[in-house]
Amino acid sequence: MIELRDVHKHYGNYHALRGINATIQAGEFFSLLGPSGCGKTTLLRTIAGFEMISSGAILIDGRSMGSVPPNLRPTNMVFQSYAIFPHLSVEQNVGFGLRHDSRSPAEKGRAVAEALEMVGMRDFKARNTQALSGGQRQRVALARALVLKPKVLLLDEPLSALDKKMREQMQSELIKLQQQVGITFVLVTHDQEEALVMSDRIAVMFEGEVAQLADPQTLYQRPASRRVAEFVGTMNFLSAEVISETGGIVEVDAEGFGRLTMRGSEVSERQSSRGASVGFRPEALTILFEGDAAPDRESNATVVDVVYYGDLTYYDVRLDGATRPVRVSMRNVFGRPVLGIGMPTRVAWSAGALTLFR
Ligand code: ADP
Ligand code: MG
Repeated sequence: MIELRDVHKHYGNYHALRGINATIQAGEFFSLLGPSGCGKTTLLRTIAGFEMISSGAILIDGRSMGSVPPNLRPTNMVFQSYAIFPHLSVEQNVGFGLRHDSRSPAEKGRAVAEALEMVGMRDFKARNTQALSGGQRQRVALARALVLKPKVLLLDEPLSALDKKMREQMQSELIKLQQQVGITFVLVTHDQEEALVMSDRIAVMFEGEVAQLADPQTLYQRPASRRVAEFVGTMNFLSAEVISETGGIVEVDAEGFGRLTMRGSEVSERQSSRGASVGFRPEALTILFEGDAAPDRESNATVVDVVYYGDLTYYDVRLDGATRPVRVSMRNVFGRPVLGIGMPTRVAWSAGALTLFR
Protein backbone atom coordinates (compact mmCIF):
# COMPACT_ATOMS: atom_id res chain seq x y z
CA MET A 1 0.00 0.00 0.00
CA ILE A 2 2.73 2.48 1.02
CA GLU A 3 6.33 2.08 -0.01
CA LEU A 4 9.01 4.27 1.50
CA ARG A 5 12.24 4.05 -0.48
CA ASP A 6 15.33 5.62 1.01
CA VAL A 7 13.39 8.68 2.14
CA HIS A 8 15.51 11.66 3.24
CA LYS A 9 14.30 14.99 4.57
CA HIS A 10 16.47 18.02 5.30
CA TYR A 11 15.27 21.14 7.06
CA GLY A 12 18.06 23.54 6.06
CA ASN A 13 21.13 21.71 7.30
CA TYR A 14 19.18 19.57 9.79
CA HIS A 15 18.85 15.98 8.55
CA ALA A 16 15.44 14.95 9.94
CA LEU A 17 14.88 11.71 7.98
CA ARG A 18 17.96 9.65 7.15
CA GLY A 19 17.10 6.98 4.63
CA ILE A 20 13.77 5.46 5.68
CA ASN A 21 12.85 2.16 4.01
CA ALA A 22 9.57 0.42 4.81
CA THR A 23 6.59 -1.19 3.15
CA ILE A 24 3.19 -0.81 4.79
CA GLN A 25 0.60 -3.40 3.74
CA ALA A 26 -3.00 -2.64 2.80
CA GLY A 27 -5.28 -3.02 5.81
CA GLU A 28 -2.39 -2.99 8.23
CA PHE A 29 -2.32 -1.17 11.57
CA PHE A 30 1.19 0.24 11.40
CA SER A 31 2.86 2.39 14.05
CA LEU A 32 5.81 4.76 14.06
CA LEU A 33 7.24 4.62 17.58
CA GLY A 34 10.09 6.69 18.94
CA PRO A 35 11.10 9.42 21.36
CA SER A 36 10.11 13.04 20.80
CA GLY A 37 12.05 14.65 17.97
CA CYS A 38 13.04 11.44 16.14
CA GLY A 39 11.09 12.38 12.99
CA LYS A 40 7.73 10.59 13.36
CA THR A 41 5.56 13.59 12.52
CA THR A 42 7.89 14.57 9.69
CA LEU A 43 7.57 11.10 8.16
CA LEU A 44 3.78 11.13 8.52
CA ARG A 45 3.59 14.57 6.90
CA THR A 46 5.70 13.43 3.96
CA ILE A 47 3.28 10.53 3.41
CA ALA A 48 0.35 12.96 3.57
CA GLY A 49 2.11 15.37 1.18
CA PHE A 50 2.32 18.32 3.58
CA GLU A 51 6.09 18.05 3.48
CA MET A 52 8.22 17.44 0.36
CA ILE A 53 11.01 14.88 0.68
CA SER A 54 14.60 15.83 -0.13
CA SER A 55 15.39 12.53 -1.87
CA GLY A 56 14.08 8.99 -2.20
CA ALA A 57 10.52 8.02 -3.14
CA ILE A 58 7.11 7.48 -1.60
CA LEU A 59 4.71 5.22 -3.48
CA ILE A 60 1.07 4.73 -2.56
CA ASP A 61 -0.82 1.98 -4.39
CA GLY A 62 2.18 1.65 -6.71
CA ARG A 63 2.03 5.31 -7.75
CA SER A 64 4.88 7.68 -7.03
CA MET A 65 3.61 10.58 -4.94
CA GLY A 66 6.43 12.88 -6.14
CA SER A 67 4.51 16.10 -6.71
CA VAL A 68 0.98 14.91 -5.88
CA PRO A 69 -0.63 17.46 -3.51
CA PRO A 70 -2.20 16.29 -0.22
CA ASN A 71 -5.81 16.59 -1.42
CA LEU A 72 -5.13 14.28 -4.39
CA ARG A 73 -3.50 11.55 -2.27
CA PRO A 74 -5.61 8.63 -0.99
CA THR A 75 -4.64 9.61 2.55
CA ASN A 76 -6.21 11.66 5.29
CA MET A 77 -4.66 12.87 8.49
CA VAL A 78 -5.87 13.25 12.06
CA PHE A 79 -3.73 15.94 13.69
CA GLN A 80 -2.30 15.81 17.18
CA SER A 81 -4.22 18.98 18.06
CA TYR A 82 -7.49 17.65 16.48
CA ALA A 83 -7.82 20.99 14.58
CA ILE A 84 -11.59 21.14 15.17
CA PHE A 85 -13.40 24.36 14.21
CA PRO A 86 -14.84 25.79 17.43
CA HIS A 87 -17.56 27.84 15.72
CA LEU A 88 -19.04 24.84 13.88
CA SER A 89 -21.26 22.05 15.20
CA VAL A 90 -20.19 18.41 15.28
CA GLU A 91 -22.07 17.73 12.06
CA GLN A 92 -20.64 20.80 10.32
CA ASN A 93 -17.12 19.86 11.37
CA VAL A 94 -17.46 16.38 9.91
CA GLY A 95 -19.15 17.72 6.76
CA PHE A 96 -16.45 20.34 6.23
CA GLY A 97 -14.26 17.94 4.27
CA LEU A 98 -17.13 17.33 1.83
CA ARG A 99 -17.61 21.00 0.93
CA HIS A 100 -16.14 20.52 -2.58
CA ASP A 101 -17.91 17.19 -3.04
CA SER A 102 -20.40 17.19 -5.92
CA ARG A 103 -22.93 14.91 -4.19
CA SER A 104 -26.36 16.23 -3.19
CA PRO A 105 -26.83 17.68 0.32
CA ALA A 106 -28.93 14.64 1.25
CA GLU A 107 -26.18 12.24 0.19
CA LYS A 108 -23.56 14.26 2.03
CA GLY A 109 -25.81 14.23 5.09
CA ARG A 110 -25.94 10.43 4.93
CA ALA A 111 -22.15 10.21 4.62
CA VAL A 112 -21.72 12.45 7.68
CA ALA A 113 -24.27 10.42 9.66
CA GLU A 114 -22.47 7.20 8.72
CA ALA A 115 -19.10 8.60 9.84
CA LEU A 116 -20.57 9.81 13.14
CA GLU A 117 -22.17 6.41 13.66
CA MET A 118 -18.77 4.71 13.21
CA VAL A 119 -17.26 6.70 16.06
CA GLY A 120 -20.34 6.45 18.29
CA MET A 121 -21.25 10.16 18.02
CA ARG A 122 -24.57 9.98 16.13
CA ASP A 123 -26.52 11.55 19.00
CA PHE A 124 -24.16 14.54 19.20
CA LYS A 125 -24.45 15.83 15.65
CA ALA A 126 -26.03 19.18 16.56
CA ARG A 127 -23.78 19.75 19.55
CA ASN A 128 -21.40 22.71 19.66
CA THR A 129 -17.85 21.28 19.65
CA GLN A 130 -16.88 23.46 22.61
CA ALA A 131 -19.33 21.48 24.73
CA LEU A 132 -17.48 18.19 24.12
CA SER A 133 -15.01 16.22 26.25
CA GLY A 134 -11.50 15.42 25.01
CA GLY A 135 -12.52 11.93 23.96
CA GLN A 136 -15.55 13.23 22.06
CA ARG A 137 -13.45 15.81 20.20
CA GLN A 138 -11.08 13.05 19.25
CA ARG A 139 -14.03 11.11 17.81
CA VAL A 140 -15.19 14.13 15.80
CA ALA A 141 -11.68 14.51 14.37
CA LEU A 142 -11.74 10.82 13.44
CA ALA A 143 -15.17 11.06 11.82
CA ARG A 144 -14.05 14.09 9.82
CA ALA A 145 -11.13 12.08 8.46
CA LEU A 146 -13.22 8.96 7.80
CA VAL A 147 -16.03 10.74 5.95
CA LEU A 148 -13.73 11.19 2.96
CA LYS A 149 -13.21 7.41 2.81
CA PRO A 150 -9.41 7.56 2.56
CA LYS A 151 -7.46 4.38 1.78
CA VAL A 152 -4.93 5.36 4.42
CA LEU A 153 -5.64 7.12 7.70
CA LEU A 154 -2.63 8.91 9.21
CA LEU A 155 -2.91 9.52 12.96
CA ASP A 156 -0.42 11.78 14.75
CA GLU A 157 -0.44 10.97 18.49
CA PRO A 158 -4.25 11.04 18.45
CA LEU A 159 -4.64 9.88 22.06
CA SER A 160 -1.84 11.76 23.80
CA ALA A 161 -4.13 14.49 25.16
CA LEU A 162 -6.50 12.02 26.84
CA ASP A 163 -6.26 10.74 30.40
CA LYS A 164 -5.15 7.15 30.97
CA LYS A 165 -8.59 5.56 31.23
CA MET A 166 -9.99 7.38 28.20
CA ARG A 167 -6.83 6.57 26.26
CA GLU A 168 -7.20 2.86 26.93
CA GLN A 169 -10.85 2.95 25.88
CA MET A 170 -10.03 4.83 22.67
CA GLN A 171 -7.22 2.36 21.95
CA SER A 172 -9.62 -0.56 21.82
CA GLU A 173 -12.19 1.50 19.91
CA LEU A 174 -9.59 2.46 17.32
CA ILE A 175 -8.59 -1.19 16.88
CA LYS A 176 -12.25 -2.15 16.34
CA LEU A 177 -12.81 0.78 13.99
CA GLN A 178 -9.79 -0.17 11.90
CA GLN A 179 -11.02 -3.75 11.63
CA GLN A 180 -14.49 -2.55 10.71
CA VAL A 181 -13.46 -0.09 7.97
CA GLY A 182 -10.54 -2.22 6.82
CA ILE A 183 -8.37 0.71 5.77
CA THR A 184 -4.67 1.12 6.45
CA PHE A 185 -3.85 3.00 9.65
CA VAL A 186 -0.48 4.62 10.25
CA LEU A 187 -0.23 5.74 13.87
CA VAL A 188 2.46 7.94 15.37
CA THR A 189 3.12 7.45 19.07
CA HIS A 190 5.90 7.90 21.61
CA ASP A 191 4.13 5.47 23.95
CA GLN A 192 5.60 1.98 23.63
CA GLU A 193 2.69 0.31 25.41
CA GLU A 194 0.20 1.94 23.02
CA ALA A 195 2.21 0.74 20.03
CA LEU A 196 2.40 -2.84 21.39
CA VAL A 197 -1.32 -2.96 22.14
CA MET A 198 -2.56 -1.56 18.84
CA SER A 199 -0.22 -2.46 16.02
CA ASP A 200 0.22 -5.26 13.52
CA ARG A 201 3.75 -3.97 12.98
CA ILE A 202 5.88 -1.23 14.50
CA ALA A 203 8.78 0.80 13.14
CA VAL A 204 10.96 2.01 16.01
CA MET A 205 12.70 5.26 15.08
CA PHE A 206 15.68 7.04 16.57
CA GLU A 207 17.16 10.22 15.09
CA GLY A 208 15.54 9.96 11.69
CA GLU A 209 16.31 6.28 11.19
CA VAL A 210 14.33 3.05 11.58
CA ALA A 211 16.11 1.01 14.24
CA GLN A 212 13.80 -2.03 13.95
CA LEU A 213 10.65 -2.90 12.04
CA ALA A 214 8.79 -5.87 13.47
CA ASP A 215 5.55 -7.20 14.93
CA PRO A 216 4.98 -6.42 18.64
CA GLN A 217 6.06 -9.86 19.91
CA THR A 218 9.31 -9.89 17.98
CA LEU A 219 10.04 -6.34 19.03
CA TYR A 220 9.50 -7.17 22.68
CA GLN A 221 11.12 -10.60 22.74
CA ARG A 222 13.95 -10.02 20.28
CA PRO A 223 14.86 -6.34 20.19
CA ALA A 224 17.54 -5.72 17.58
CA SER A 225 19.71 -3.53 19.79
CA ARG A 226 20.20 -2.46 23.39
CA ARG A 227 18.62 0.87 22.53
CA VAL A 228 15.43 -0.68 21.16
CA ALA A 229 15.34 -3.05 24.14
CA GLU A 230 15.52 -0.13 26.56
CA PHE A 231 12.91 1.93 24.74
CA VAL A 232 10.35 -0.88 24.52
CA GLY A 233 9.61 -2.23 27.98
CA THR A 234 12.12 -2.99 30.75
CA MET A 235 15.28 -4.92 29.96
CA ASN A 236 17.92 -6.22 32.36
CA PHE A 237 21.53 -6.38 31.19
CA LEU A 238 24.40 -8.34 32.67
CA SER A 239 27.81 -8.16 31.10
CA ALA A 240 29.13 -11.16 29.26
CA GLU A 241 32.31 -12.31 27.62
CA VAL A 242 32.28 -14.13 24.31
CA ILE A 243 34.37 -17.31 24.64
CA SER A 244 33.93 -18.72 21.16
CA GLU A 245 31.82 -18.36 18.07
CA THR A 246 31.35 -21.15 15.55
CA GLY A 247 28.69 -21.48 12.88
CA GLY A 248 26.33 -18.98 14.52
CA ILE A 249 26.62 -20.61 17.94
CA VAL A 250 28.16 -18.33 20.53
CA GLU A 251 29.54 -19.53 23.84
CA VAL A 252 29.52 -16.82 26.47
CA ASP A 253 30.41 -16.42 30.10
CA ALA A 254 27.80 -14.09 31.62
CA GLU A 255 27.89 -12.65 35.12
CA GLY A 256 25.31 -14.34 37.32
CA PHE A 257 24.55 -17.03 34.73
CA GLY A 258 27.94 -18.60 34.07
CA ARG A 259 28.51 -20.45 30.79
CA LEU A 260 25.73 -20.09 28.21
CA THR A 261 25.35 -21.38 24.67
CA MET A 262 23.44 -18.90 22.54
CA ARG A 263 22.22 -19.64 19.05
CA GLY A 264 20.87 -17.86 15.96
CA SER A 265 17.86 -15.81 16.97
CA GLU A 266 19.20 -15.28 20.50
CA VAL A 267 22.16 -13.27 19.23
CA SER A 268 21.74 -9.65 18.07
CA GLU A 269 23.54 -8.17 15.09
CA ARG A 270 26.91 -6.78 16.05
CA GLN A 271 26.30 -3.13 17.02
CA SER A 272 29.49 -1.68 18.40
CA SER A 273 32.84 -2.51 19.87
CA ARG A 274 31.41 -2.05 23.37
CA GLY A 275 31.48 -5.20 25.46
CA ALA A 276 28.81 -7.86 25.09
CA SER A 277 25.90 -8.29 27.47
CA VAL A 278 23.06 -10.69 28.07
CA GLY A 279 19.63 -9.03 28.18
CA PHE A 280 16.35 -10.37 29.50
CA ARG A 281 12.88 -9.13 30.46
CA PRO A 282 11.76 -9.12 34.13
CA GLU A 283 9.37 -12.03 33.46
CA ALA A 284 12.11 -14.15 31.88
CA LEU A 285 13.41 -15.19 35.28
CA THR A 286 11.34 -17.11 37.83
CA ILE A 287 11.86 -17.04 41.57
CA LEU A 288 11.68 -20.58 42.93
CA PHE A 289 9.49 -21.11 45.97
CA GLU A 290 9.46 -24.15 48.22
CA GLY A 291 7.98 -27.12 46.42
CA ASP A 292 8.63 -25.74 42.89
CA ALA A 293 10.10 -28.39 40.60
CA ALA A 294 13.87 -28.18 40.19
CA PRO A 295 14.65 -26.74 36.74
CA ASP A 296 17.79 -27.54 34.81
CA ARG A 297 18.93 -23.91 34.78
CA GLU A 298 19.07 -21.93 37.96
CA SER A 299 21.27 -19.57 39.98
CA ASN A 300 21.39 -18.57 43.60
CA ALA A 301 20.50 -14.98 44.35
CA THR A 302 19.73 -12.51 47.13
CA VAL A 303 16.66 -10.28 47.28
CA VAL A 304 17.72 -6.61 47.43
CA ASP A 305 14.40 -4.86 46.90
CA VAL A 306 10.71 -5.74 46.76
CA VAL A 307 7.84 -3.77 45.21
CA TYR A 308 4.38 -5.28 45.72
CA TYR A 309 1.73 -4.38 43.11
CA GLY A 310 -1.12 -6.67 44.16
CA ASP A 311 -1.20 -8.83 41.06
CA LEU A 312 2.57 -8.70 40.56
CA THR A 313 5.63 -8.35 42.74
CA TYR A 314 8.84 -6.87 41.39
CA TYR A 315 11.90 -8.36 43.02
CA ASP A 316 15.30 -6.81 42.51
CA VAL A 317 17.72 -9.69 43.02
CA ARG A 318 21.47 -9.99 42.87
CA LEU A 319 22.51 -13.19 41.20
CA ASP A 320 25.59 -14.76 42.82
CA GLY A 321 28.64 -13.52 40.94
CA ALA A 322 26.84 -10.53 39.40
CA THR A 323 27.96 -6.95 40.07
CA ARG A 324 24.47 -5.40 40.00
CA PRO A 325 20.88 -6.41 40.71
CA VAL A 326 18.33 -7.32 38.06
CA ARG A 327 14.56 -6.94 38.14
CA VAL A 328 12.33 -10.03 38.19
CA SER A 329 8.53 -9.80 37.97
CA MET A 330 6.44 -12.55 39.51
CA ARG A 331 2.70 -13.04 39.27
CA ASN A 332 1.40 -13.34 42.82
CA VAL A 333 -0.37 -16.49 43.95
CA PHE A 334 -2.87 -16.49 46.81
CA GLY A 335 -1.41 -17.93 49.95
CA ARG A 336 2.19 -17.69 48.81
CA PRO A 337 4.36 -15.38 50.89
CA VAL A 338 6.15 -12.39 49.39
CA LEU A 339 9.89 -12.63 49.96
CA GLY A 340 11.64 -10.04 52.10
CA ILE A 341 14.74 -7.94 51.50
CA GLY A 342 17.96 -9.79 52.29
CA MET A 343 16.48 -13.27 51.83
CA PRO A 344 18.41 -15.84 49.81
CA THR A 345 16.49 -17.32 46.90
CA ARG A 346 16.91 -19.36 43.73
CA VAL A 347 16.01 -18.09 40.30
CA ALA A 348 15.40 -20.18 37.20
CA TRP A 349 15.33 -19.25 33.54
CA SER A 350 14.52 -20.92 30.28
CA ALA A 351 17.13 -21.06 27.55
CA GLY A 352 15.34 -18.99 24.89
CA ALA A 353 14.54 -16.09 27.23
CA LEU A 354 17.98 -14.48 27.06
CA THR A 355 19.38 -12.38 24.22
CA LEU A 356 23.05 -11.70 23.60
CA PHE A 357 23.74 -8.07 22.65
CA ARG A 358 27.20 -7.19 21.40
P1 ADP B 1 8.57 13.78 16.37
O1 ADP B 1 7.22 13.87 15.73
O2 ADP B 1 9.17 12.41 16.31
O3 ADP B 1 8.58 14.29 17.77
P2 ADP B 1 9.32 15.71 14.35
O4 ADP B 1 9.14 14.94 13.09
O5 ADP B 1 8.28 16.70 14.68
O6 ADP B 1 9.58 14.73 15.56
O7 ADP B 1 10.70 16.50 14.27
C1 ADP B 1 11.93 15.86 13.96
C2 ADP B 1 13.04 16.88 13.99
O8 ADP B 1 12.91 17.79 12.92
C3 ADP B 1 13.06 17.71 15.26
O9 ADP B 1 14.39 17.93 15.66
C4 ADP B 1 12.40 19.00 14.83
O10 ADP B 1 12.88 20.09 15.60
C5 ADP B 1 12.82 19.12 13.38
N1 ADP B 1 11.79 19.83 12.59
C6 ADP B 1 10.52 19.46 12.43
N2 ADP B 1 9.83 20.31 11.62
C7 ADP B 1 10.73 21.27 11.28
C8 ADP B 1 10.67 22.44 10.46
N3 ADP B 1 9.56 22.79 9.83
N4 ADP B 1 11.82 23.18 10.35
C9 ADP B 1 12.96 22.81 10.97
N5 ADP B 1 13.09 21.73 11.74
C10 ADP B 1 12.00 20.94 11.90
MG1 MG C 1 5.43 14.55 16.55
